[in-house]
Amino acid sequence: MNKYVDVILPLPLPRSFTYLLPDEEIGKVQPGFRVVVPFGRKKFYTAIVCKVHNNAPTEYEVKEITTVLDKAPILFPIQFKLWQWLSEYYLCTQGDVYKAALPSGLKLESETIVLLNPDFEADTQLPPKEQQILDLLPAGQEQSITKLEKDSGIKNILNVVKSLLDKEALFVKEELRRLYKPKTEPRVRLTENHSSETALKILFDTLSRAPKQLALLMKYLELSCYMGGSTSLKEVSKKTLIDSAGSSTSVFNGLVEKGVFLVYHHEIGRLNKQEGDTVVLNPLNSFQQKAYNEIATSFKEKNVCLLHGVTSSGKTEIYIHLIEEAIRRGKQVLYLLPEIALTTQITERLKRVFGAKLGIYHSKFPDAERVEIWQKQLSNQPYQIILGVRSSVFLPFENLGLIIIDEEHENTYKQQDPAPRYHARSVAIMLAAMCGAKTLLGTATPAVETYYNATTGKYGLVELKERYQDIQLPEIVPVDIKELARKKRMNGPFSPSLLADIREALDKKEQVILFQNRRGFAPMIECKTCGWVPKCKNCDVSLTFHKGINQLTCHYCGYTYRPPRSCPACEGVDLRSRGFGTEKIEDEVKNVFPDASISRMDLDTTRSRSAYERIISDFEQGKTQILIGTQMVSKGLDFDHVSIVGILNADTMLNYPDFRSYERAYQLMAQVAGRAGRKNKRGKVLLQTKSIDHPIIRQVIENDYLSMFQREMAERQAFHYPPYYRLVYVYLKNRNEQLLDLMARTMGDKLRAVFGARVLGPDNPPVARVQTLFIKKIIVKIEDGASMARARELLMLIQREMIEDERFKSLIIYYDVDPQ
Ligand code: ADP
Ligand code: ZN
Ligand code: ZN
Repeated sequence: MNKYVDVILPLPLPRSFTYLLPDEEIGKVQPGFRVVVPFGRKKFYTAIVCKVHNNAPTEYEVKEITTVLDKAPILFPIQFKLWQWLSEYYLCTQGDVYKAALPSGLKLESETIVLLNPDFEADTQLPPKEQQILDLLPAGQEQSITKLEKDSGIKNILNVVKSLLDKEALFVKEELRRLYKPKTEPRVRLTENHSSETALKILFDTLSRAPKQLALLMKYLELSCYMGGSTSLKEVSKKTLIDSAGSSTSVFNGLVEKGVFLVYHHEIGRLNKQEGDTVVLNPLNSFQQKAYNEIATSFKEKNVCLLHGVTSSGKTEIYIHLIEEAIRRGKQVLYLLPEIALTTQITERLKRVFGAKLGIYHSKFPDAERVEIWQKQLSNQPYQIILGVRSSVFLPFENLGLIIIDEEHENTYKQQDPAPRYHARSVAIMLAAMCGAKTLLGTATPAVETYYNATTGKYGLVELKERYQDIQLPEIVPVDIKELARKKRMNGPFSPSLLADIREALDKKEQVILFQNRRGFAPMIECKTCGWVPKCKNCDVSLTFHKGINQLTCHYCGYTYRPPRSCPACEGVDLRSRGFGTEKIEDEVKNVFPDASISRMDLDTTRSRSAYERIISDFEQGKTQILIGTQMVSKGLDFDHVSIVGILNADTMLNYPDFRSYERAYQLMAQVAGRAGRKNKRGKVLLQTKSIDHPIIRQVIENDYLSMFQREMAERQAFHYPPYYRLVYVYLKNRNEQLLDLMARTMGDKLRAVFGARVLGPDNPPVARVQTLFIKKIIVKIEDGASMARARELLMLIQREMIEDERFKSLIIYYDVDPQ
């Protein structure tokens, strides 16, 4: 009887597809196996088996699986459940989820590469098409099937290739099976002929005329702990040997040529296997212990608990105790951090306590390392703790007991593009529930939604208001820069009091952090004569000026331009920059404090992980006195000598057109302020703003989260926003602006017919064109408590109607559920 499998393809297709299992694979393949399958006219893809069954598909002719890539599943059954939930909740396909979930090394290229089997001899004459393909593939050369199809002109080449594969005339390239290759290290040992003591004595004599080679040989004997004869020796890496002897590769090669040394390759893991000595946990102080106990109690009744603790109250210490306890029960822990908060500081802190039990999953690590972690999680010796970013919610866990989401309010937990546009906090809570695990959310500034869930009793709530060792919260001083500007007393972006405080801090050898929530040199340049502002030709945004590289860049599509010498509109030459980005702030600081050592931390200076960590460690070690940065500087960094924090301009945050902008402004300012003042001194924060009477400014100064929360809740209720309503943004894209307009109006009407007044728009989003595609946005607001499943059904129905309309074939529709 034939067996079939349903597979998920790495494509935005709304369903799974059925393939025939080759006879020899029956009984071997299970859900979670990767297989190569033909799809569409030309292509092969690596797909994931989600079901094995006996039913041939009825609507299409079944094709056969080309290759089975695994001997065991690479997913656990829970993952399928989670993928299913994700695709339903976030209105995307399981193919989208599959693409986001797996590291590239496990997904393989879509273009299968084949090569000739050099040992192949045909028993009988091959069919002409097959011979033609073999002729196109000289020995040792490899080719993608797409290319072979093109070169041979053969239609339906898959069958021909498959027949050749069956005859073992061709192979699927091994690299396809394992894009990920284990890392090896060259090591060295003595050849058979030279391992005995007698042989070595003779060798010493011959080498007396080659002192460098002799020295290297002696070093080898020392490192390998050679005791004469055949006792087992320590393995010596080639590099260590050459380095510790202060020798060179050519001297080394000399000994290889003389047949003394033999080089072999030893497979080493990429992961840090160092067992290392671990330290005992810090004892919790009484406040922390109380919070710990309350969390434990809350977990008896509820699945999720919020730990609302001021900065430096020791939340991380509490996490460490909870992790230790979970591990003692034999459970695994997932510890999530926003990407930019995952620093060496926290890694080191956890490594000291948990040593080799800890694995780190970071998007800036090489893909091969992520593959290795994935595979270790499938093995019988998985990491007990994974410290990771957003995407680590997709890792396979056999025995998860606890998820910690640190800085839970961070909006970088939400994936913006591409689909799945998921929020790692929601996914983690769902994953934990599926595994019977608990979730702890931690932050000093909870997201309004989270605090709402905690105060209504859906989540547990534990408050920790005391800072560790009674360190005082910083003094926050508002500075009215509108008034100062009117009196012409501003020095560029700096008020006189900020300058005075920076100067004093520098004199005392203390450090300063300056926060500006905008990168680049200036947000824009402008013609002083006619007001012309350069815009991106693909997107509907003004360009940011980067002085260092003398470029205008679009922060949406990444396109770069050379700044014009004169205005293309009026030919005026008085082009000036307007506003301040971090790069311009850096210039200004250098002008005022030429002797200070300054560094800047933003997306532009931290493209690589090493650059990022160098900036932090230089600041930590006091090599840098002034650190200028975007919101990156507010994230989970512990510095001991920062006495002054300057928030240069609160208004850019307050004026951002989004219903969350006040909440976010509060969070950002409170977090940045938390960087000031540590062990022995109260820190000071200068908060520069043009809106000195704004309630948010007062709430930040008074550290009054509750007032901020209550005000926000009242507004959200009045204007129908989360947490009272769930938002779904419907995006429509097209190259043709008029057509898009019609599409959006048609879809808006259809939505209104079903959802009534819950529909807003269509509108132009803040950036109405990106990468030459025009964009329209329709907002659907659904009451908290209404059925999302039903809403989803209706949305999908309307989408189908739209796409089936002949006129709208080129329409792209996608959704952002719970937008951030
Ligand atoms: P949070 O995560 O709340 O910002 P941390 O856990 O980072 O706070 O604690 C702030 C600082 O105080 C850290 O340097 C930490 O090592 C120290 N600390 C907090 N609690 C303890 C404790 N119980 N024992 C020793 N050091 C502690
Ligand atoms: Zn002009
Ligand atoms: Zn652009």
